[in-house]
Amino acid sequence: MKEMNTPFRKGVCLVYKNPDYKKVKNSFILLVSCGYCKTDIAEYQKVGKGNLLRMYTDRIIKGSIDWSKKPKSLYCPNCGKLLATRIMLKKKNKEAYKMIRSTYNTRRVN
Ligand SMILES: [Zn+2]
Repeated sequence: MKEMNTPFRKGVCLVYKNPDYKKVKNSFILLVSCGYCKTDIAEYQKVGKGNLLRMYTDRIIKGSIDWSKKPKSLYCPNCGKLLATRIMLKKKNKEAYKMIRSTYNTRRVN
């Protein structure tokens, strides 16, 4: 289950690839983890500076949640805490997960 050359912690693995993922230029990878139990939730393609407030669904690379089921809410697979809820951004016609403040941590991978 363990992948090489990745900084993932043991425990829940980032095994679910996101079928909707699209590569974006000038981005970097953020690892999003649960703020309660430190479990890694998602590898996310972030564009631009600033804190992560939402995750666009097509920028999630993979994670420990089954994205193909398009969950309405993101719960930590380890401790069960609610971390984000799915929203529709009408202006951009995009779906995203609105992160709930202070329930998650991020760190830059590359
Ligand atoms: Zn957790």
